[in-house]
Amino acid sequence: MENESVVEALDAAERSFERAPANVEDGLDVGDAELVQLRRACRLLAAASRLLDEGYYTVVIESSFVAIERTIQFRLIHDGAMSGSEVVSSHRRLYQRGAEVGLYADSFADELAELWNQNRTKTYYRLGIATEEQAETMRDLAEEMHRHLVDGSRVPHECIC
Ligand SMILES: [Zn+2]
Repeated sequence: MENESVVEALDAAERSFERAPANVEDGLDVGDAELVQLRRACRLLAAASRLLDEGYYTVVIESSFVAIERTIQFRLIHDGAMSGSEVVSSHRRLYQRGAEVGLYADSFADELAELWNQNRTKTYYRLGIATEEQAETMRDLAEEMHRHLVDGSRVPHECIC
């Protein structure tokens, strides 16, 4: 990259991740890996609702998927089915892991994976532009799953959304 201000901006961003944490986000300064995932999901849901009001449907859909995945990760760690440092890079695999420990049925995991594929394919090939209905129903799905999986845990009081 030739542009000096871009290079400087990259340097500054890199340094910020190397420093000891200061001025951390309220609500996310929790020690447990499971609670970090839970609180991230809570924030993504809150953000999705705000962005829905703004009409940013594509970002709402993406945030909703990530909120669902963070919530599943929270339960997998909470239930001892995943370590806090494990990274599952495949969306489908993560949904399957949730089904394997009984968070929901196999068929539900398959439908989630199908939904994710459909959304990605459409966005990638520009075949579809996100609609208000898609954004709203995805946000609702993310909220319902979050509520269900958090209520079924031993720490529902840790939810901040
Ligand atoms: Zn929450």
